[in-house]
Amino acid sequence: EAVVHWYKRDLRLHDNRALSLASAKAKEKGVPLICTFIVSPQDYQAHYTSPARVDFELRTLAIIKEDLAKLDIPLYVETREERRTIPDHIVGLCQKWGAKHLYCNIEYEVDELRREASMTRKCLDAGINFTAVHDDVVVAPGKLRTGTGNQYAVYSPWFRSWIAHIHSNPELLDPFDPPGQNPSSARQRFNDIFRMPIPAAPENKKLTDEERKRFEHLWPAGEHEASQRLEKFLGQKVAEYKDARNLPAANSTACISVHHSAGTLAARTSVRRARDLNGTKKLDAGNEGVKTWISEVAWRDFYKHVLAHWPYVCMHKPFKYEYANIEWEYNDEHFERWCKGQTGYPIVDAGMRQLLHSGWMHNRLRMITASFLAKDLLLDWRLGEAHFMTHLIDGDFASNNGGWGFSASTGVDPQPYFRVFNPLLQSEKFDPAGDYIRKWVPELSAVAGKAVHDPYGRGAAEEAERKGYPRVVVEHKGARERALARYKEGIGRE
Ligand code: FAD
Repeated sequence: EAVVHWYKRDLRLHDNRALSLASAKAKEKGVPLICTFIVSPQDYQAHYTSPARVDFELRTLAIIKEDLAKLDIPLYVETREERRTIPDHIVGLCQKWGAKHLYCNIEYEVDELRREASMTRKCLDAGINFTAVHDDVVVAPGKLRTGTGNQYAVYSPWFRSWIAHIHSNPELLDPFDPPGQNPSSARQRFNDIFRMPIPAAPENKKLTDEERKRFEHLWPAGEHEASQRLEKFLGQKVAEYKDARNLPAANSTACISVHHSAGTLAARTSVRRARDLNGTKKLDAGNEGVKTWISEVAWRDFYKHVLAHWPYVCMHKPFKYEYANIEWEYNDEHFERWCKGQTGYPIVDAGMRQLLHSGWMHNRLRMITASFLAKDLLLDWRLGEAHFMTHLIDGDFASNNGGWGFSASTGVDPQPYFRVFNPLLQSEKFDPAGDYIRKWVPELSAVAGKAVHDPYGRGAAEEAERKGYPRVVVEHKGARERALARYKEGIGRE
């Protein structure tokens, strides 16, 4: 006999609900716990998962394997090409290991929910107790309702309700115990699994050697790293977060999204640690920086609630379905210039190049670059959504889709479509000294003063030209008018 924990995007030992339950069940039954993770190249392909992210997951699995081995718990990792075979395969593994109990944490995207539903049926047929639990979010989807009993589509009232719910159920922030020691006989019984190496990345998701070194350096993997990052951020930076979080040059955010997204850190742990630092049980009291940071972590929950309630957002459909009729431009050259950071708008280009280099982009820049694609270039936001996923190390469907919906005005946000970001004003406001631009757009590193925001318009044309920095791909003023007209027409169409 045995109990199995099926790892997905919950890549940690600590504060992991399903893993903790699995370990308790194994202890109760006096049988060993086995953990498994299935690498699915088709899943990676279908979800546009970036090679950097795949690499991060595999590096994390190697760490988990070691940590589990110290507890005599084996981690079985296998690559399965066809993702539709995964449920049967996991059932087969449980049967092979004589496991009567299978645990996992729920993922809320449509494909994943369907997979879990089919697992339920298959496990029932096979006589296996299948337990899938809420863990990825602090508050489970469906718990928060508007006065009329509906899912919130607006963040602020949802957030008040989220806070109130946690205040009434403070145990939601309590940590789950890490797994305990397996019976020592597990070593011998699963000797083969202990010796199995972590598989290499699938061919279509391989990094070059240079990239691997770069990402390893920028984003060390695993939960120990995640918890150090969290403590360092809370100890040194969170107090300034409210004022500095929008300034990309200040490097003032936690840079922890890859950990929330891969599950090397639970959102619950982050909120709990921030709350404890504040010295109050209230999430909306105490230090302004801490409060603001908690409210940002809550956005992650919000978008998962939206996705769970309106699953059509997983199917390439805009949340506001009347926005499906907007007629987008088809311009490969413009799209390519955006992807490569060659739009001639320094702030946009800096963001896009940060993404290509580091697999991460500051939130303000995600908003600026996304708005630029959907509004100034009037290109279908789904192209940008996919491009982000293919490069982000923290790629997360709900947050990415939510962020794109916000920026393209097609999502849950009540902000009207006619609020269009002006890239120059954004640049002057959020990168006032131009340091972020100079870091990521080396052609402009010698441009002094305000000209860095608009080299051709503000007297640095010669330098920009000499360094090969492009002129603007579209004029903002005209592009804005075009976008407003096209959005209006699209929404009005039957
Ligand atoms: P901090 O500012 O330190 O915030 C702490 C944590 O809160 C983050 O790690 C993250 O888990 C969560 N968070 C913060 N802001 C948001 C937000 N707006 N939406 C959801 N969660 C948030 N975030 C992702 O994790 N994955 C994505 O694929 C993703 N795509 C995005 C696409 C667009 C167009 C936009 C506008 C935003 C996107 N975000 C995404 C949200 C946000 O930009 C990142 O979470 C944030 O920049 C991560 O940096 P950090 O860890 O330093 O954040």
